[in-house]
Amino acid sequence: MSSTEIQNAAEIIRLSKHCMAFTGAGVSVESGIPPFRGENSIWSRYDPSLLELRYFKSHPETCWPVIKEIFYDFFGKAKPNAAHYALAKLEQDGIIRALVTQNIDNLHQEAGSREVYEFHGNSQRLVCLQCDFHEMAAEADLSVLPLYCPKCGGLMKPDFIFFGEQIPEKAYQLSMGAARKSDVCIVVGSTGEVMPAALIPAEAKRSGAVIIEINPEESLFTRDITDIHLRGKASEIFGLLNQYLK
Ligand code: NAD
Repeated sequence: MSSTEIQNAAEIIRLSKHCMAFTGAGVSVESGIPPFRGENSIWSRYDPSLLELRYFKSHPETCWPVIKEIFYDFFGKAKPNAAHYALAKLEQDGIIRALVTQNIDNLHQEAGSREVYEFHGNSQRLVCLQCDFHEMAAEADLSVLPLYCPKCGGLMKPDFIFFGEQIPEKAYQLSMGAARKSDVCIVVGSTGEVMPAALIPAEAKRSGAVIIEINPEESLFTRDITDIHLRGKASEIFGLLNQYLK
């Protein structure tokens, strides 16, 4: 990747009228959170059926201790990295208008991004399956598991989508709306294999957006819709882009 490519991408981002970002697990890899698939991935260590809604409801005593280990003891300690902060700064500078994330780790919000559409929900929130009561995980007592609702006694679940659940309607509509309005879409760290999330950059492309992809590897987007592939780790690429975005 040449400096001309970086300069060109930065210029397109700088001159955009409605730039959006679409992020996947790769943006959080440098915060120490592994992706779900591939070598050293979360699913190479844990059984994904723990996150199947029907299994979770019928075996909460098996699922909750593992969920606590992955999403609260481990994800809960992760901190935003330079890429999360760069994306938040682009929003504060009036360049990024919306950020659609597939991630459930809350790191974009922690870095300061405000207009975040959580396509798959957020692990740091909890929801009661019976009365829809919401609570932040940091405020809940996770020492006694499974976790039951302090209001109605129903089973509590992390507020991200489990296998077998629908995408939250509001997040879906907001994400599609942002994609249709965008003239530039920065896709960071996503394989493009997860549906329907992968439809968002595709919709942006169909609406005329330039697709700038940041990923050390090729993805399904690279071949199909990417206009400029900035090959590298998200923090490094944002470091290079920032030189021209000031
Ligand atoms: P994925 O796990 O399928 O793929 C990760 C992508 O990130 C790959 O293309 C990889 O090449 C790229 N990548 C790796 N290191 C990178 C880096 N330093 N900088 C930039 N890119 C890097 O990710 P996905 O497409 O988001 O799909 C996984 C699904 O699992 C998502 O739906 C998401 O909800 C969930 N997930 C979330 C988290 C999280 O919240 N942090 C973590 C794992 C999985």
